[in-house]
Amino acid sequence: MNGDTEVRYVRQSEVVGKKVIEQRGYIVGEVKDISFRLLDDRVELALTIRYGDTERDIPWSQVKSIGDVVLLKVDYEPPAKAKPEVTAPPLIAKPQPAPITPKICPNCGYPNDPKNRFCIKCGTKLPE
Ligand SMILES: [Zn+2]
Repeated sequence: MNGDTEVRYVRQSEVVGKKVIEQRGYIVGEVKDISFRLLDDRVELALTIRYGDTERDIPWSQVKSIGDVVLLKVDYEPPAKAKPEVTAPPLIAKPQPAPITPKICPNCGYPNDPKNRFCIKCGTKLPE
């Protein structure tokens, strides 16, 4: 047995009302209650925490330490309320293809494809 390990019991009244901070430093909520469930060979404890209108249970195994606040040893996402509003990235205008200037036939006025050397309608040689 390790002599440095001090067995310490935490009273519910010590914990209830304390802020719960996850390992990165975010407030996850406030302890509302200590909950437990009975398993075959042991009792599993959880902290019931409240954040706004949301309540949830954090298994005791995720609690790192209890001091002025309850510190968790895991990352925890705060409930939906704390989600920052995501602003849509600005729409980037697609580059428009350069407009094709048709070669107007000097004879009949037909707009020819600029690659054409002769008017496809009347056969007149188009200007370069
Ligand atoms: Zn023509």
